[in-house]
Amino acid sequence: MLLADLTSPQVRDLDKNLPVLIPIAAHEQHGAHLPLFTDSYLLGEIVRRTEATRSAEVLITPLQWLGNSHHHRDFPGALSAQPRMYLDLLQGMVNNLLDDGFHRILILNGHGGNDIPGQQAMFEIRQQQRQRSDLLLLFSSYWKLRPTEVESARGFQQTEMGHACEWETSMMLQIAPHLVGNYREATAVEPNGSFLPAYRAWVTQDRSAVGHIGCPAFASSEKGEYLFTLFATGVAALIDRMLCWNGHSWRD
Ligand SMILES: [Zn+2]
Repeated sequence: MLLADLTSPQVRDLDKNLPVLIPIAAHEQHGAHLPLFTDSYLLGEIVRRTEATRSAEVLITPLQWLGNSHHHRDFPGALSAQPRMYLDLLQGMVNNLLDDGFHRILILNGHGGNDIPGQQAMFEIRQQQRQRSDLLLLFSSYWKLRPTEVESARGFQQTEMGHACEWETSMMLQIAPHLVGNYREATAVEPNGSFLPAYRAWVTQDRSAVGHIGCPAFASSEKGEYLFTLFATGVAALIDRMLCWNGHSWRD
């Protein structure tokens, strides 16, 4: 069910063991062929499918579209929260829900730049509430929840998520083809790491002059539908595990 559509008395009367899903995404450049709101459109579709199959089993907050996107600010149009403010924003939302009595909470992410602040937000809340044993504070990006790897027989060039890539372009072709530009002539940009396995801080211009990372030219709406099904299945499975958790143990 959608939190935004409930009344306050309805929220008061909900079973507080209900899992809560907080979707977070971004508004940032996605190369020359995808719109700025791509991450929010894609996560919105996965949330829509989750709500359709698990309506009674999960409470979903409105999607938080403002993300941690400073590494995309070398292209026009990105709207990005200051990183430390973003951490406070996420903690504020989770703490509001804890104050209302909910304690099984999943931040579901749709943008790579939110990974570190999202996990840090949950880490800090757990430390602040370390006397409690009833908290389930989870964070995951949706593409990491896929129950299987993508089937190469379907013609996928990529085995991992990139940026404005084969995967994201395919999903946009499936839900909003009118917003997809000329992806067929987009040259492949390898995700090449640098100084691996160390983490090297980066801005997008370091890695891609055109803004995308991956192989958008291989995108198709059929691949997009396949990916949405795969990712939504993974999200639903995690919600089921949250529901089955006994309420106190470390193991699920
Ligand atoms: Zn994206």
